[in-house]
Amino acid sequence: MADIVVVGSLNMDLVAKVKRLPSYGETVIAHHFQMAPGGKGANQAVAVRRLGATAGMVGRVGMDSYGEILLSSLTTSGVNVSYVAKDSDLPTGTALITVGDNGENTITVFPGANGRCLPDDVKAAGSFISKAKALIVQLEIPLETVQTALRIARENAIMTVFNPAPFRRLPEDLLSIVDYLILNEVEASALCGCPVDQPHTAIEAGKRILDMGPGRVVLTLGEKGAVFAGPEGGFHVPAFRVKAIDSTAAGDAFIGAFTVALVEGMGVEEGLRYGCASGAIATTRMGAQTSLPTRDEIKELLGFSKLRRFQSYDLEGLA
Ligand code: ADP
Repeated sequence: MADIVVVGSLNMDLVAKVKRLPSYGETVIAHHFQMAPGGKGANQAVAVRRLGATAGMVGRVGMDSYGEILLSSLTTSGVNVSYVAKDSDLPTGTALITVGDNGENTITVFPGANGRCLPDDVKAAGSFISKAKALIVQLEIPLETVQTALRIARENAIMTVFNPAPFRRLPEDLLSIVDYLILNEVEASALCGCPVDQPHTAIEAGKRILDMGPGRVVLTLGEKGAVFAGPEGGFHVPAFRVKAIDSTAAGDAFIGAFTVALVEGMGVEEGLRYGCASGAIATTRMGAQTSLPTRDEIKELLGFSKLRRFQSYDLEGLA
């Protein structure tokens, strides 16, 4: 049993830190290198668990040393890995990540075994999913697998959270079985075909995306915070001011914390604040799973910002 089940990817992240990102065709010398467990799915499961909720993972790794390290890292974090299969043919997924000193990054993913996380893997975990309070899925595994997971959750009235990353074209009816669609500026702009760079353009984009079928839409805007669009209206929550050094997994931190907040009965505004605090803290540390915050750290940032008036609300109606 797990409060929140994540169906998604597990990757080994190979992270190089550089003064500035290379331009096309250019080679730059890294001044720091780290190999660390990652993958959007696994990161989001750890983000959930670190906040004290129980988390389960459905996915696939290879029968290699990376796979072993990823499984033991999840287990050490307390994530239930009973439904992570081991593929005898394909290697474990890998992500090549380059991080500039300003915190910006580029990421190339080799899916490996994640590409063979198939609908049957999800069906085998059907009772695990149907007993959870929420399901989280992304797009680093095959689309049919994501669809199957969302359907199982919807049939069992489980809250569904979908993070369409990395973005690809989606079947028209898919979004109608999503309760919360959470996406960043790049994904939102690709989905709605409109610019998403400021909170007000993001709320407009959120409105358009809402018309595509999801129950509610959350757009994360990096250092500009996040916006919400739903039947109850739209609003912007500014980011917390932090010294960002690596934005890897900021979105995963946001999604994990937002989902935990909602499962615990908080409202969407509080959920967004939780998400923003979690994302902000994740940017202050290197790596993916290593950077994900605990509940005490989030509470501390929320309390601190209240004291210093670091964050103010900027509510906007969705007429
Ligand atoms: P992704 O990693 O998917 O691109 P974002 O970059 O939008 O996601 O980050 C997710 C959330 O993390 C944002 O909504 C924001 O609240 C927080 N965040 C990201 N970057 C920063 C930053 N530089 N300063 C403060 N908060 C940040």
